[in-house]
Amino acid sequence: MTHSTPAIVILGQGSLATARRLQQVYPAALIHGLGGRVEGADRVYQEFGATLRELYQQDTPIIALCAAGIVIRTLAPLLLEKGAEPPVLAVAEDGSAVVPLLGGLGGVNDMAREIAAALEVAPAITTSGELRFGTCLLNPPSGYTLGDLETGKRFVSDLLAGHSVRIEGAAPWLEQAQLPEEPQARRSIHVGSVERVASPDELLIYPRCVVVLVSAVEADLTNAIRAAMQHANVALQALACLVAAPDQMACPALREAALELGVPLRFVASASDFRALPGVTFIETARNMTIAVAPQPLDVTRIGRPRGRLAVIGLGPGAAQLMVPAVKAELARATDVLGYETYVRMAGPFRPDQVLHCTDNREEMQRARHAFELAAQGRSVIVVSSGDPGVFAMAAAVLEALHESSDPGWHSVDLEILPGVSASLATAALAGAPLGHDFCVMSLSDNLKPWSIIEQRLDLAAQADLVLAFYNPISRSRPWQLGRALEIVAQHRTAQTPVVLGRDVGRPGQALRVTTLGALTSDQVDMRTMVLIGSSTTCTFPRSDGGEWVYTPRWYGEKPGT
Ligand code: SAH
Repeated sequence: MTHSTPAIVILGQGSLATARRLQQVYPAALIHGLGGRVEGADRVYQEFGATLRELYQQDTPIIALCAAGIVIRTLAPLLLEKGAEPPVLAVAEDGSAVVPLLGGLGGVNDMAREIAAALEVAPAITTSGELRFGTCLLNPPSGYTLGDLETGKRFVSDLLAGHSVRIEGAAPWLEQAQLPEEPQARRSIHVGSVERVASPDELLIYPRCVVVLVSAVEADLTNAIRAAMQHANVALQALACLVAAPDQMACPALREAALELGVPLRFVASASDFRALPGVTFIETARNMTIAVAPQPLDVTRIGRPRGRLAVIGLGPGAAQLMVPAVKAELARATDVLGYETYVRMAGPFRPDQVLHCTDNREEMQRARHAFELAAQGRSVIVVSSGDPGVFAMAAAVLEALHESSDPGWHSVDLEILPGVSASLATAALAGAPLGHDFCVMSLSDNLKPWSIIEQRLDLAAQADLVLAFYNPISRSRPWQLGRALEIVAQHRTAQTPVVLGRDVGRPGQALRVTTLGALTSDQVDMRTMVLIGSSTTCTFPRSDGGEWVYTPRWYGEKPGT
């Protein structure tokens, strides 16, 4: 099994040199360093336990440069929950020892050997089958699937106990293993794509060499594919991918079938290209599909192309802890990242294979169209916003671009908007709960709307006694607008009305100020500031650290129960 890019986790500066050597083995791997202890890591984390558990739960292979015991204790609570697990290794800080801990079926021993070779030490491999045979029968390389894990385990222990085995079918990697082979052996390993029931002394291994071409989508596609394969006597475990024509790209039934069968979905413009593949046999079925069987496992990444994806993501205000996990996962799978340079940098670091397209903040429609062009080619594209992408940010621009387009390629892109913590919410949380009752969110920028509309809305919102949250409060090209806005609000609110200013919330240099409407002046605010203005019920009281809590009660008028 080939695994995704590992994370290298270090606790102290002393491990950085070894971590860099490991990075030469896995160039795309990032070094995660403990904040305050490690200078120059690729990512900074604050809590070792939480970080390790999160990586494990996201199925990320982990190389921890610390004592094996620490890693075991940290992951112990998660171990019983999980069947499949990522490889986890402990490596001595000075690189003198490599200990594979978990993920025997996920290739941990292969990783241990790779790392040990780079560090010029012997890996501490303890899996007896691997030691004896030089390969893990239970963990075939990519392109092959083990029929049944329990049979496999019994097989390995039988072989370890001295039984011999014969191999039927082609499996180049098994030829290199030092298995106790004998032509007359009772036990056999059978490699092939034909559907069969394993006999008691047989271990089945399936090459993923079968493709199902779906020419027309029918009802209950998943079962139709299963039935067609069974009828053709082809094993389901040998299925490498489903293939369809590009005009089927947005078809939900196809997507669901691929998901249920656990295989990728690829799109090929002309079926005749596909039929030209050398050595492939085609089985026409009575249904709207063709089964193609190749002589060897197929590299599905070379068959046509996948459906393109476009995700418009919100980073949250800045701090990694405030980024939703779905966004983190999306950042890991992206091939292309578009956005205003500051935000793209904030979303990183990225791997060398990920393409960054940084643009000016103002070219939003152009950026949206570029994103669709890339996604329509089958790439996995991210458009980055800070905060939430739907709040004065890229999501609306992306939808506008799609709405204006009649290109079927754009409309069949797998488009998803992933939310983030918006600046008003992050600022409010720092101050307490100023948005605890009805509130109104406004951008004070008159770049895309007339100033008269802003004045009118301000007047009505202030009159309605809503708490006000101002985005884009001021900028060099819009110097007077905030002052005018405050004048309008002051017509409806007292000078004692609490005001919260959050600057660079969730970013280095974060500053929170609690003041009043009477004391607020434009020079306390810049374009990196969020302005929250209380309603008539918003109140403050001292907090134990010397600051002030701000909140707006949930009730209005008479306090209930008094
Ligand atoms: N989509 C973003 C808002 C973009 S508009 C979101 O949901 O947060 C840009 C404005 O948001 C800035 O002018 C500022 O008023 C506010 N803002 C964005 N990030 C901020 C942060 N980290 N701290 C304070 N204000 C921020």
